[in-house]
Amino acid sequence: MNYKKIFTEIENEFPKMEDPGRVPSYIPELGSIDPEKFGIHLATVTNRNYSLGDSDEKFSLQSIAKVLALTLAFKLEDENLWNRVGVEPSGTPFNSLVQLDFEKGVPRNPLINAGALVICDVLVSRLKNPRHEFLEFVRNFSGNPNIDYNMKVAESEKQTSHRNAALINLMKDYGNIKNDIGIVLDFYFNLCSLEMTCKELAHVFLFLAAHGTHPKTKIEVISGSKAKRINAIMLLCGFYDEAGEFSFKVGLPGKSGVGGGIIAVHPEQYSIAVWSPRLNKKGNSYKGMKVLEFLTDRTQSSIF
Ligand code: GLN
Repeated sequence: MNYKKIFTEIENEFPKMEDPGRVPSYIPELGSIDPEKFGIHLATVTNRNYSLGDSDEKFSLQSIAKVLALTLAFKLEDENLWNRVGVEPSGTPFNSLVQLDFEKGVPRNPLINAGALVICDVLVSRLKNPRHEFLEFVRNFSGNPNIDYNMKVAESEKQTSHRNAALINLMKDYGNIKNDIGIVLDFYFNLCSLEMTCKELAHVFLFLAAHGTHPKTKIEVISGSKAKRINAIMLLCGFYDEAGEFSFKVGLPGKSGVGGGIIAVHPEQYSIAVWSPRLNKKGNSYKGMKVLEFLTDRTQSSIF
């Protein structure tokens, strides 16, 4: 596949393309990111790499990190996990409270905020020091000791976390949160504050393009069967009430974050990370979605 040619076309067209999106301000620390940042990195399972723009600059993963927490929780809990969180698309915004009450505190899926809070609760129950052990898990399987949290971002989100506090309180009332609410929320803010460059992010997610075993470190992060299921959840739930749109236009399992990042995975081929901070109305990177649509259309490489 001639990714080099496509990358040159992207470099010529996308950075200057008009972008009606907005950088989020509800987490104050994210509001100060330069909205013009634009980076991409594509890493193949056979260790070929293509980069452009600000692909070596760290950014806040935010909800992208939920996939990594899900990976560890699924590994530890097996099928029991699905007693506490579903695998259905939500059709509602990432921080919606509406459905949660109807469904008695069982979130639709692990990638909306409510679901990720349940996943964090599972990890708080299972691990002695979840903050440390989760980070070690990611560093270890990816072979990258430079991955870290950004405490300023975590602290900033904590100061404005009324909605996440509402979600977790509601679930606690329904009996679906086992630990202290403050401890689980703190772990969640740490998780979301994880930072990576596009290059690091694409490399970390390669295990989902390789049936659960990381092609670089050869570590089995998760079984092939579980990797299949996580990709399915990303495809159906990774973009909240825009998951259909992303599947329709891009055709890959993926996950977005309000830091402006998107990760997408083409099983048996590659993983690709894009960073462009301006978000559309659904909270997903405007240009990030456009550029992935362009790339999968031009290369005719999607799962469909
Ligand atoms: N930390 C963010 C929040 O809870 C994550 C949201 C996102 O990236 N969509 O609001």
